[in-house]
Amino acid sequence: MKSRAKNYKKGKLLYEGKAKRLYAIPGHPDLLWQEFKDDATAFDAIKRGTIVNKGRINNQLTAYIFTFLGKAGIKNHFVELISENEMIVKKVKIIKIEVVGRNIAAGSLLKKTNFKEGQVLKNPIIEFYYKEDALHDPLINDSHAKAMRLATQKELDYLRRMAEKINSMLVPFFRKRGLKLVDFKLEFGRDSKGNILLADEISPDTCRLWDVKTNEKLDKDRFRFDLGKVEESYAEVISRVIK
Ligand code: C5P
Repeated sequence: MKSRAKNYKKGKLLYEGKAKRLYAIPGHPDLLWQEFKDDATAFDAIKRGTIVNKGRINNQLTAYIFTFLGKAGIKNHFVELISENEMIVKKVKIIKIEVVGRNIAAGSLLKKTNFKEGQVLKNPIIEFYYKEDALHDPLINDSHAKAMRLATQKELDYLRRMAEKINSMLVPFFRKRGLKLVDFKLEFGRDSKGNILLADEISPDTCRLWDVKTNEKLDKDRFRFDLGKVEESYAEVISRVIK
């Protein structure tokens, strides 16, 4: 793998989230150093734990998937892998909207509708959530987002269109690898020129992935609901995705 690692120095810690740390890179004001942690949290961080190798797996899966999407024209923040659990990304200011896409009913959709878990949806559902821990990331609509000045209508339309496009690429991507993309969460950010880029990560932390034959859950739900075989499931996903 091509690496310019020697050109980059890990600078000041700028931000620590639940699953990642972001560092400055001296001399590269438009880039960030993103480190993936093994720490896992669920239910607004009420449940905490460690998933051995998660940082390494999510880093490499995200790099692989963002490269795939980038080649298909989806602008994203990924620049290059720098180590097993670190990557260089373009600096963006994250838009405080979590964009969720759903193909099969699961998770919080079961509390909002009468769908039963596993029911295939007639059309993908795209939802916006306000990214605000203190409010427990509530579901919002376009007028909430505009009133809070999170994004313009044009940007909201773009986020929805991007989520639909990414979904239409990732469903066959995972299916070919024996996985159903049940649902997923995307985050976007604005670069210094105002361009909107896909950011954050795409991994078993942020997607529900079920085995195509058995519907076995191979994602963070194993941690959330103490289903066992957590590490094994993350390892299974990376072994199927990256050959
Ligand atoms: O909990 P819910 O069903 O709304 O989650 C939908 C999808 O978004 C799941 O794949 C979940 O892993 C992901 N998600 C996330 N981060 C959140 C909320 C949901 O990655 N804060």
